[in-house]
Amino acid sequence: MRIYNTLTRKVEDFVPNEEGKVNMYTCGPTVYHFAHIGNLRSYIMEDVLEKTLRYLGYDVKRVMNITDVGHLSSDADTGEDKMLEGAKREHKTVMEIAKFYTDAFFSDMAKLNIKMPDVIEPATNCINEFINMISVLLEKGYAYIAGDNVYFDTSKLDSYYVFSSQSENELLVGVRDDVEEDNNKKNKSDFVLWFTKSKFDNQELKWDSPWGVGYPGWHIECSGISAKHFGEQLDIHCGGIDNIFPHHTNEIAQSEAYLGHKWCNYWFHVHHLIDKQGKMSKSKGDFLTVSLLEGKGYNPLAYRMFCLQSHYRKPLEFSFDALDNVVSAYDKLIKNISKLKEEGEVSKEAFDSFKEKFTDALSNDINTSMAITIIYDLLKADISDKTKLELIKDFDYVLSLGLLAGPKEEKGPEVDVAFEKYIIDKIEERKAAKKAKDFAKADAIRNELLEKGVVLKDTREGTLWELN
Ligand code: AMP
Ligand code: ZN
Repeated sequence: MRIYNTLTRKVEDFVPNEEGKVNMYTCGPTVYHFAHIGNLRSYIMEDVLEKTLRYLGYDVKRVMNITDVGHLSSDADTGEDKMLEGAKREHKTVMEIAKFYTDAFFSDMAKLNIKMPDVIEPATNCINEFINMISVLLEKGYAYIAGDNVYFDTSKLDSYYVFSSQSENELLVGVRDDVEEDNNKKNKSDFVLWFTKSKFDNQELKWDSPWGVGYPGWHIECSGISAKHFGEQLDIHCGGIDNIFPHHTNEIAQSEAYLGHKWCNYWFHVHHLIDKQGKMSKSKGDFLTVSLLEGKGYNPLAYRMFCLQSHYRKPLEFSFDALDNVVSAYDKLIKNISKLKEEGEVSKEAFDSFKEKFTDALSNDINTSMAITIIYDLLKADISDKTKLELIKDFDYVLSLGLLAGPKEEKGPEVDVAFEKYIIDKIEERKAAKKAKDFAKADAIRNELLEKGVVLKDTREGTLWELN
């Protein structure tokens, strides 16, 4: 298996610490809003990576965190906790928001055939681990207390900017311009390990610590959760490219200072899904979700195919026209596969030869588009239907495109036009009630619809509905 490693900027042979076993860590979602289809591009490609490793025979243990505290609106330790932002927006508690959007994320994963990681760990479960790690960093002299916060001292490291693909200045651009200077920091690149500053008094979730009541910084959570489940070594760490700096840079700083040795050997980063305006992001407002695609009649697996048709190390531009093209290709592919009959013998020679090509494509830095091309090739090949079906079944373990599911039924349940109009009117009425801050009325409308089997989902694009 060869894979691009952001740390060395090379495609390298993948050699895990322990033969046959892979410890894999994934930065999970910040659950203050729905995941957008850009976030899900990262999770789809990480899913393919995990399944490729398993397909190749590795025993993979994969851990993913859920960020339910500490991720501020700017990655550079300023602004408000994103979770609090979500709670205020929806007049709920932080824990209610976390539960709702964690469940929504799991449901998106299921729709996209993304396997659940072996361990899912919310950050709020591991406060003691973070406190312990921060205490050790203070003892070892890698951290300091200033203005009641605990900071990591980046000047104590021989090399802080380990991802040398970008210059220091370029990396600092990742830290948004509108951030206020934090005068407590000894060095510009220092970052918060534990917040207690009075500025965050309105923070809902706080814990006692040796440094006062407060809450952990975002970066410490991934170092702490990884140490909790994997101990001293990690083979591969994944995330979207925006995580390279400061998040992953800071994770490495903390983990290696804490452990006293090298921590993670391979860093796998998925490039962004972009649209005409640039990177799709939650904070920018308009973003697309899986439910929104479904609401427009798209099968989520067609979006998975859209992602698989391009390489994870290239930006991918989304447009509905581009998605429509993939949808026709996807539907045609499924239809052609459904015509295959369980007939003839499986030819071992043909099976092995196609399997080898497929394995080569994925082992070559996860070349998913090539892997899909191999399916088209095998459909055209002069081999028995049974061989084709066996191969497609085998490949779909990794691709997870529902290739053998057969064409989808054309339509869901019919909705009466008058009933649809009633729903739309009620949504408008609820919107007006919310605007007038009459939340009791807004909730009553939601419940009235729910009793009739209509579920509402509030998104940045407006309120969506579906039948229960
Ligand atoms: P967040 O929920 O913001 O913590 O992000 C979850 C994951 O999505 C992280 O791995 C991000 O790096 C990744 N991500 C964020 N925006 C995009 C995007 N436009 N395209 C692909 N991945 C993204
Ligand atoms: Zn992380």
